[in-house]
Amino acid sequence: MDFIGKWLSLQVDLGSFDSRAAIWSFAAKMSFRAVILACIFSLAGLPVLYAFGILTLSVAEAVKLAVTFSWLFGGAVSGALALVTGGVIRDLAVSRAEFERLSQTDALSGLANRRAFNDALDTVEGEASLAIIDIDRFKAINDRFGHHAGDMVIRGVSDILSEVFHDCRVVARLGGEEFGVIICGGGIAQRLAQVERARMLVGSRGIECAGHVVNVTISAGVAEFVADLRSECVYARADNALYLAKGEGRDRVLHEQSMMVENPDGIAAEKDYPRAVFGAVPMRG
Ligand code: GH3
Ligand code: MG
Ligand code: MG
Repeated sequence: MDFIGKWLSLQVDLGSFDSRAAIWSFAAKMSFRAVILACIFSLAGLPVLYAFGILTLSVAEAVKLAVTFSWLFGGAVSGALALVTGGVIRDLAVSRAEFERLSQTDALSGLANRRAFNDALDTVEGEASLAIIDIDRFKAINDRFGHHAGDMVIRGVSDILSEVFHDCRVVARLGGEEFGVIICGGGIAQRLAQVERARMLVGSRGIECAGHVVNVTISAGVAEFVADLRSECVYARADNALYLAKGEGRDRVLHEQSMMVENPDGIAAEKDYPRAVFGAVPMRG
């Protein structure tokens, strides 16, 4: 029994039911194996039946009958059962995949959610920047046009961010009107220029909401992933840079090392700001 259980569980591999063809091939395989097993058991049972005098047919006829019934019942029944089981398992696998996707997705924006962002934060390797982006004076949009319009602005900004950062590790809505992006590859200046491009695009593209075209701006704080620096520290640094960007008037990108990007070509320009300003910067509440 243990052997049969193990054998059955070997056949039921969730990953192999990804298409109808796979289910049919599983059913055919199961049905063929069931026929072979049924034949073996039926033929093995024949001597017993003869021994007790239950079977009055000739051996040739009995063998023919055993094989025929094995094909008819063993094959048909197990094939049908395997088809149904395969279909159910496939549906379960599809809903599991959909559930996993939904658990990592922000419902309003369609971007990754904070959970997916946190997962990605812990697996960053090599050179990368973290940008925390926040829509400026968003509360005023809600107050003026209503919460629904505010939601549409969040969606509009999300679309622009996924357009600009389409090649990035993760673009996530962290909550409210705040976003997080992990940008890998290139140099610091290139990664910073990408954030600046997002800022300029958001600022220049009106977002349609509730019959109005709303112009919004964003501010961003950027920090570098450094070997041996915990991702929480990188996050705190980017958040502090965002805090500074808000304090300096909003609609700007500020690097943790106070590299400020202002030039319209989107090419990062390093200014003479002190490089370690963060000890003096209060955390945002
Ligand atoms: P700042 O420039 O300093 O970021 O100002 P702000 O007004 O953007 O920021 P504040 O934190 O004062 O306001 C954010 C507002 O966003 C408050 C909250 O009601 C609103 N909000 C949070 N989540 C959502 C959401 O999912 N949809 C909408 N429409 N509004 C939201
Ligand atoms: Mg805001
Ligand atoms: Mg905010």
